[in-house]
Amino acid sequence: MVLPRHVYVHVPFCARRCSYCDFSIAVRRVVPSSEYVAALARELELRFGDRDICSVDTLYFGGGTPSRLGSDGVRDLLETIRRRIELVPGAEVTLEANPEDITRDAARAWRDAGVNRLSIGAQSFHDDVLTWMHRTHDSAAIARAVEHARAAGIENYSLDLIFALPQGITRSWELDVERALELEPSHLSLYGLTVEPRTPLGRWHSRGDVTESPDERYEAEFLHAHGRLASAGFEHYEVSNFGKPGRHSRHNSAYWTGAAYAGLGPSAHAFDGTHRRWNVAAYAEWLRRVTACEDPLDESESLTGDNRVAEEVYLGLRTRRGLSVAVPELARVKVWVDAGWATYDGNDRIALTPLGWLRLDALAADLTLVRSCY
Ligand code: SF4
Repeated sequence: MVLPRHVYVHVPFCARRCSYCDFSIAVRRVVPSSEYVAALARELELRFGDRDICSVDTLYFGGGTPSRLGSDGVRDLLETIRRRIELVPGAEVTLEANPEDITRDAARAWRDAGVNRLSIGAQSFHDDVLTWMHRTHDSAAIARAVEHARAAGIENYSLDLIFALPQGITRSWELDVERALELEPSHLSLYGLTVEPRTPLGRWHSRGDVTESPDERYEAEFLHAHGRLASAGFEHYEVSNFGKPGRHSRHNSAYWTGAAYAGLGPSAHAFDGTHRRWNVAAYAEWLRRVTACEDPLDESESLTGDNRVAEEVYLGLRTRRGLSVAVPELARVKVWVDAGWATYDGNDRIALTPLGWLRLDALAADLTLVRSCY
C-alpha cells in the first residue's frame, strides 16, 4: 500500500444551504467545533493508529465551510492532525473559507496555526446574484476578506466563481472576471452552474421557474475567462482551474495525477493507488461511528483494468499536462487536432485545448473506448 502524501479533511458545517449546492453538509447556526475536532481525533486514531506517522506535502480543509470553525476550531484541528501526521517544510495547507468568516483576527490566527493558502468562495460580485444563490455574504465582504488575508500575510489565495447562470438572471460575467482580477488572486477556480435535483435550484427548475443556461452562454463565458485570464498571466492548468506560475493547487494537482491521498471526516474519499474508499456522508452517522470506535466507511471500490483506463484518460485530459497516447490512438488524436480540440507534441503526448475541454466528457469516453479495444 502506498502511504499518502496528501490529506483531505471534510468539515461539513454551513450556515445555510446555497441554492445550487448538493454537497454533503450539516447546516448549523452554532458550529459544534469541539465535538467535531474530538471526533476527527478518533477517526485519526482508528484509521492511522497502528501506522507510522505519515509525512505529507499537502493538507486541504474542504467542505462545507471549514472557516466556520473559527480561529480556535481551526487551530485545534491542526494541532490534532499534527499529533499523527507530519507536515513537511513548505507543505501547502489550504482552508476553504467564506468571505464573511475571514476577519482580521481569524486570518492571523489561521496563519499562526499553519494555514498558508485560502480558497475563498466568492461566486459573483453582483449582490442580487449572491442573494439568488442564497450566499451569506455580499460583494463588499469579498474585498474585505482579501484585505484581511493579505494583511495577515496569506498572499496565496484562490477565488471561486460560478459561470453559466440560468437564463433570466442578470449578470455580467465579464464584470465578475474583472472584479476578481482587481483583487489580485494567485489562483481562480471557475465552475459552470449545474442544476442538481435535490437543491432549491433543482426545485425551481422542475417547477419551470428557471431555465438552464444555453450551451452558447456556457461556451462563451468559459472561453472569455480563458482568454482574459491568460492575458493577465494565469495558466489554465486544469479544465476549471487557473493559477499564476508556481501557484497551482498542489493538493488538487495530486488528485489529477492519480497520487494516493487520505480522507477524513464525513463523506471524505481516500485512495491508495488501487483502492478507493469513502466515509458515510451524514455528520450524525459519522459522529456516531467514530465515537463508538467503528470505521465510518460507507463504500469502497478497486480500480481494475477497465475503470483504471477510464480514470487515467479522464484525469489526464482534464489537465494541461495531458496524456500519453499509443500508436493505435493516433488516428483519433489527428481528428481532434484537426478540429482544434487538442494539441499533439509529435511524440506521444496530447492535451486538450479550451475548445476540447468544452467536450471533455465525450472525448474522454471516446478515447477510453479506443484504448480498451487493443
Ligand atoms: S457554503 Fe459551499 S458547501 Fe456550504 S452550502 Fe454553500 S456552496 Fe454548499
